[in-house]
Amino acid sequence: MRILVVEDEPTLRQQLVQAIAAAGHTLEAAADGVQAHYLGEVESYDAVVLDLGLPQLDGLSVLRRWRAAGRNMPVLILTARSAWQEKVAGMDAGADDYLAKPFHMEELLARLRALLRRGGEHGSAQWQCGPIWLDTRQARVTVAGQPLQLTSHEFKLLSLLMQRKGEVLSRTELSEHIYPQDSDRDSNTIEVFIGRLRKKLPGGSIETVRGLGYRLVDGGA
Ligand code: CA
Repeated sequence: MRILVVEDEPTLRQQLVQAIAAAGHTLEAAADGVQAHYLGEVESYDAVVLDLGLPQLDGLSVLRRWRAAGRNMPVLILTARSAWQEKVAGMDAGADDYLAKPFHMEELLARLRALLRRGGEHGSAQWQCGPIWLDTRQARVTVAGQPLQLTSHEFKLLSLLMQRKGEVLSRTELSEHIYPQDSDRDSNTIEVFIGRLRKKLPGGSIETVRGLGYRLVDGGA
């Protein structure tokens, strides 16, 4: 899973980065609200750990701006021990959970696991590949901000390619994803769907890896 850690206090940030990385996640860290807001806006994360007391732009404003822009990744806020008003304001602003400082790293990891599980159940992930955004909850795809009309098979296919972007997926794997119940599936139809998707997506987005399958790449990079 991909996690964003936002904490301005260097020692705590370092501890968070180490603990979350040791739990097997990839992560990025931000030390101020402006950088955090930017990363959450342009990158895709499975969860965010967000300190509220931040320089340049406070954590509550960061969270409100993300939510106003439709960014719906799970967010765990870190609050000062005594400030119950902060917790209320944080939940009102769209936080999914909170933890008061100081906290035990084990508790933070447990809450993070719970958030990631919930995110998975609700299927609320957003995936990005260059200008392409896919929102699984709204079943919506945009390219450079413009909505893209896809059939349900095309959507399922693109979901898997985006979820595992950069990886080569075989035709068998893709067809199992599209027809999970069908024992008589025909992997040749995948070629047809890939062809249709290619016409709708920016050129070079889907690469053919000869003899192996297909791979989604950031064609604009
Ligand atoms: Ca702080």
